[in-house]
Amino acid sequence: MKTLIVHAHPEPRSLNGALKDLAVSTLERAGHEVRVSDLYAMGWKAVVDAGDFGTSASSPLKVTADSGRAFDTGTLAPEVRAEQDKLLWADTVIFQFPLWWYTMPAILKGWFDRVFTYNFAYGVGEHSDVKYGERFGEGTLAGRRALLSVTVGGRESHYAERGVAGPIDDLLFPIQHGILYYPGLEVLPPFVLYSADRVDDDGFQDIAKAWEQRLLTLESTEPIAFRPQNSGDYEIPSLELKQGLEPPGRSGFRLHVRP
Ligand code: FAD
Repeated sequence: MKTLIVHAHPEPRSLNGALKDLAVSTLERAGHEVRVSDLYAMGWKAVVDAGDFGTSASSPLKVTADSGRAFDTGTLAPEVRAEQDKLLWADTVIFQFPLWWYTMPAILKGWFDRVFTYNFAYGVGEHSDVKYGERFGEGTLAGRRALLSVTVGGRESHYAERGVAGPIDDLLFPIQHGILYYPGLEVLPPFVLYSADRVDDDGFQDIAKAWEQRLLTLESTEPIAFRPQNSGDYEIPSLELKQGLEPPGRSGFRLHVRP
């Protein structure tokens, strides 16, 4: 396996830092190649601006079109192109981050905003009256796998089906489906560590075992069964799920996971 770990925490000695270090050592010991994008350590710029597009930046700035032109003509900022190259090198991508305000830290969102450019992560494939591109199951990153490893301050019950924070699968849906599955990545069930602020040394030993177990079984883990856009499950051209495909009682984001 060739694994890219995208790590988003400002403190190397944090719990997130420890989980990232453990992932590197566990995977390398098992004979896999590992590369790490440690976003804070890299001083990653978290916002898209004209500087990302070099001579492809237009005035007024058109982020979508300019990013696509910069991708096509090789004028993307070198640090953005380098992250795209790492994604193309990897067959597995792990994202390590704490849940901050019910989503990823801004620096990681900024990584997606800058690296997942037009013509690379979106705008790929035929766009016509009968086809809306290669996305949600197809695209540039098809054939690769992704895994979220998330630490969460709240208790597991807060994120259960009736929990006050909302189900964790719903909270992660925009990342797992809207960002990762969109350009074709198969998404493995997330590794979620609840009550993260209360972890002590003993607790960490159990967590480390569970994390190692997940890491060593990545290749045999079944991805979440998101419905591919172009598989016949959706009406053309509205891209609404066809009537009758949902299991009884299922609604919301879960409609887009095959039973
Ligand atoms: P750390 O603070 O680094 O460590 C947590 C505990 O693990 C400490 O007690 C530490 O001693 C212990 N530990 C044990 N072993 C080790 C080891 N080997 N290495 C390092 N530490 C170890 N929570 C929610 O539930 N929902 C939210 O929406 C949310 N929003 C937040 C927004 C912000 C801006 C912030 C700052 C926090 C938010 N939180 C939220 C809480 C957040 O998710 C947790 O604080 C975070 O997940 C803990 O991860 P950490 O790496 O920062 O932990």
